[in-house]
Amino acid sequence: MSAPRVEIDLDKIEQNTRTLVDRLTPRGIRVTGITKATLGSPGIGAAMVSGGAVGLGDSRLQNLSRLAGLGGSTSRTLIRSPMLSQAGQVVRVANASLNTERAVLDALGAAAVRYRRTHDVVLMVELGDLREGIPADELLAAAGSVLDRPALRLVGIGTNLACQNGVVPDDANMGELTRLALQVEHAHGVCLEIVSGGNSANLGWAMTTADVGRIDELRLGEAILLGTEPLHRTPIDGLHTDAFRLYAEVIEVREKPAQPWGDRAQTAFGEFPERTGTGTVRQAILAVGRHDVDPEGLIPPAGITMLGASSDHLVLDVGDHPIAVGDEVELALGYGALVRAMTSPFVTHIEHQRLQAMAPSAGAVEEHEPVPPLVLRDRPLATAPDRRDPAAGRGRPGPR
Ligand SMILES: *Cc1c(COP(=O)(O)O)cnc(C)c1O
Repeated sequence: MSAPRVEIDLDKIEQNTRTLVDRLTPRGIRVTGITKATLGSPGIGAAMVSGGAVGLGDSRLQNLSRLAGLGGSTSRTLIRSPMLSQAGQVVRVANASLNTERAVLDALGAAAVRYRRTHDVVLMVELGDLREGIPADELLAAAGSVLDRPALRLVGIGTNLACQNGVVPDDANMGELTRLALQVEHAHGVCLEIVSGGNSANLGWAMTTADVGRIDELRLGEAILLGTEPLHRTPIDGLHTDAFRLYAEVIEVREKPAQPWGDRAQTAFGEFPERTGTGTVRQAILAVGRHDVDPEGLIPPAGITMLGASSDHLVLDVGDHPIAVGDEVELALGYGALVRAMTSPFVTHIEHQRLQAMAPSAGAVEEHEPVPPLVLRDRPLATAPDRRDPAAGRGRPGPR
């Protein structure tokens, strides 16, 4: 099998989802599974849905279009504010999106009319982490502008914490979200279906608070995928933390001096590494590097330590391990390393599934060769804004 590769245990992902759903359901909270760290893998999305996620969300349109293959009944939410230039694609690929900008809402509303769709909108509120969000005192007006758009449906409000500045979800900020939800409902005479409290960092609050208020949904990625919570990166009791494993191949094993020689300046990546020890170390090089993973998030097997990483090489002190050229070494992945490994075109992804017939290839091992550049409607999404998209409000109307 090709290396480097990530092997993915879909059963563990399904079980993690089920465990979280079972814990949150008695508290009145639903789970939306977030697939962005996995390049929108349909197999992983299906495992989340089998585990009880009510829908899927991703930050990228390309990933959401991969998930479209799961069938029309699975809701797909774009969880990053849509680019104005992509409004037309957003209403075609996603049923719903998280939003903060009036110009984008206008474009989504126009695009939804044009493509004869209804698009669901969740308005994101700023509650202190200072990434995306509408100021609380502008929320009522924003809700009104969604309600004025016939092709848009105001389905809820939400917030995102703990990403930009590590602000911890607590009774104060979640209470504020509840208060804002009630305010929107009273002022506009509507009923919000979704009050989305946040991401995996909300689990600690959601499982321990005396009162979840109106919060009825969380958007969970890391907790499902890695079984960890992002505030302290600790394992969550009862969840699998090894659904993803990275395998890389050894290309050199040598006894080398512990200390480099010659004048020393910075490394390829601007570091000044300290080498400790004297004598020699048994050093192995893996054919994996920063093109493939974030070395900081890699966890080598017991008894093996990382000495350094460059673009294409990961250097290990393998001690007494009987490692030889051609062997594979298994490494565990933290969130950053997972994201890089799942998005690198050099890494193969293999999804295993035993338990159920649910995903694209039931009971089988499905091998995904490195993903080629993603295209939507034969056009690379990555190249340029969709200038022919009439919903973007400029340029001439183009073909559908
Ligand atoms: C990434 C993201 C999530 C999921 O975060 P996890 O920590 O992986 O659970 C939820 N909401 C938004 C807006 C995100 O960008």
